[in-house]
Amino acid sequence: MRKIYSVAVDGPSGAGKSTLSKAVAAELGIVYVDTGAIYRTIGYYVFSKNIDPKDAAAVIAVLPQLEIEMRYADDGLQHMYLNGQDVTKEIRLPQISMYASNVSAIPEVRTFLLEMQREMARRSCVIMDGRDIGTVVLPDAEVKIFLTADVEVRAQRRWEELRQRGTERPYKEVLREMEERDFNDSHRAAAPLKQADDAVLVETSVLGFEESKAKMLQVIREKVGI
Ligand code: C5P
Repeated sequence: MRKIYSVAVDGPSGAGKSTLSKAVAAELGIVYVDTGAIYRTIGYYVFSKNIDPKDAAAVIAVLPQLEIEMRYADDGLQHMYLNGQDVTKEIRLPQISMYASNVSAIPEVRTFLLEMQREMARRSCVIMDGRDIGTVVLPDAEVKIFLTADVEVRAQRRWEELRQRGTERPYKEVLREMEERDFNDSHRAAAPLKQADDAVLVETSVLGFEESKAKMLQVIREKVGI
């Protein structure tokens, strides 16, 4: 039987975590888990109910109404279900990013999702990306990677991604939002974004996609011995 191992990938928005982790998962034949999508699902619910995402008491009050499920559909993609409804597309709406960032700062929201994430890593080999995977969710992960890039480079990538999706926005606005999310994510009291002591730093500002992927695979193969 194959040994179960976990790869934790953390870093700020736009560092390439999801694109790279997805490609690495495909190469190694392991499961990719995008934990940002789970926070986005809660953010989307709060948005759809017109609740202020900074109002912790109001957000906590609706948690018992939520049934969140992550499933792999026939298209091989991770789909998110909220009370039985597929919200995979809706959670990617640009305005949901800040909702996700705000609700994710509430400790009760993080606790609510902790076990769900750990259970996924118990069941199969995973590469899980987020902000606190190596520090809080899977502190014993065999491999920890901290993926980052300069904020301007990340904003530029995000701007390009939005443009390709047909949601063009001024670059300055994308950059400002990226800086605001960086600040929120790394300054919150509950599980802030930070590099775990035993994580390997991969800086992608000047690396292309293939180089970054090769670097991640090299780190994983060395640590897991595969
Ligand atoms: O990764 P993504 O940009 O989709 O995540 C949306 C938001 O969810 C982030 O800005 C962050 O605040 C939050 N998040 C988190 N912990 C994670 C993953 C995402 O707090 N493990």
